[in-house]
Amino acid sequence: RQADAFSKVMQTTEGCLKDYDSLTPRLPKTGETIHGHKFFIGFGGKGANQCVQAARLGAKTAMVCKVGKDSFGNDYIENFKQNDISTEFTYQTKDAATGTASIIVNKEGQNIIVIVAGANLLLNTEDLREAANAISSAKVMICQLEVTPAISLEALTMAHSSGVKTLFNPAPATADLDPRFYTLSDVFCCNETEAEILTSLAVSSPADAGKAALVLLERGCRVVIITLGAAGCVLLSQAEPVPKYIPTEKVKAVDTTGAGDSFVGALAFYLAYYPNLSLEEMLKRSNFIAAVSVQAAGTQSSYPYKKDLPLDLF
Ligand code: ATP
Repeated sequence: RQADAFSKVMQTTEGCLKDYDSLTPRLPKTGETIHGHKFFIGFGGKGANQCVQAARLGAKTAMVCKVGKDSFGNDYIENFKQNDISTEFTYQTKDAATGTASIIVNKEGQNIIVIVAGANLLLNTEDLREAANAISSAKVMICQLEVTPAISLEALTMAHSSGVKTLFNPAPATADLDPRFYTLSDVFCCNETEAEILTSLAVSSPADAGKAALVLLERGCRVVIITLGAAGCVLLSQAEPVPKYIPTEKVKAVDTTGAGDSFVGALAFYLAYYPNLSLEEMLKRSNFIAAVSVQAAGTQSSYPYKKDLPLDLF
């Protein structure tokens, strides 16, 4: 079954970051200087990553976001265009630099990341208003927390009030998340660490994730998904309030940076283009796509295109 790539729009509002990636044998300790063996600059930011993954699967996408009026900002806009993402609502500002992320990845593929959000924090209400028609005609809106929470809330409210399916990724998470984020989320998707911060429960197994998901569901979201790295993910919904564990492929991870964004982007694609698939099936496919992404280095550079994936995913 082939979805019509131009009948639906997936809209995302979020952070763009220029990534500085260093590959090292291990992660440095406080005050320590170590040698890495590879350095590269890439494109990142949760919203941008998720949008790129959805676009590479064939979704018609637009980014509502802000970058600096600098060479990184120009590069980013060019990157969106190269990925067939609409930049009509990608704003540029002279008042802050394009956001950056400094990433260190060890040989096990684990990472530590420092983000300087820069221009992302200047996305404002007027910018959203300019994009209002596009947002209200989208099928799916994804939001995260790399812009100011008030703007994410406003974007979710706009989408929700127009009947657009909202996919909220509470990252980076804070314990004091505004309760409206839960009630505005059709799908609330976080990783283990975020689930721990939000619920104060330890999450290190599918059973733990099921318990944390129940706490999050009770706060008002319709569907909760907790991703568990190499273990896959757990699903819980108001329609079926019994946690379902969805394992994933065993693969050799080279770099897991951005796996969560690949997963969220893929999920958004399925929600927009294959709304009649069961959530479980959507998550199996999103697991598969994210597992492909961990087998190559970098964030967006590791995201697969539709043409590189098995036909039965579409
Ligand atoms: P990141 O912050 O690095 O982007 P994350 O912590 O938000 O990732 P994870 O829970 O680590 O997200 O991973 C998201 C999804 O990616 C998992 O649910 C799984 O489908 C896939 N994934 C991650 N790591 C692996 C792995 N080592 N092998 C196979 N699949 C993986």
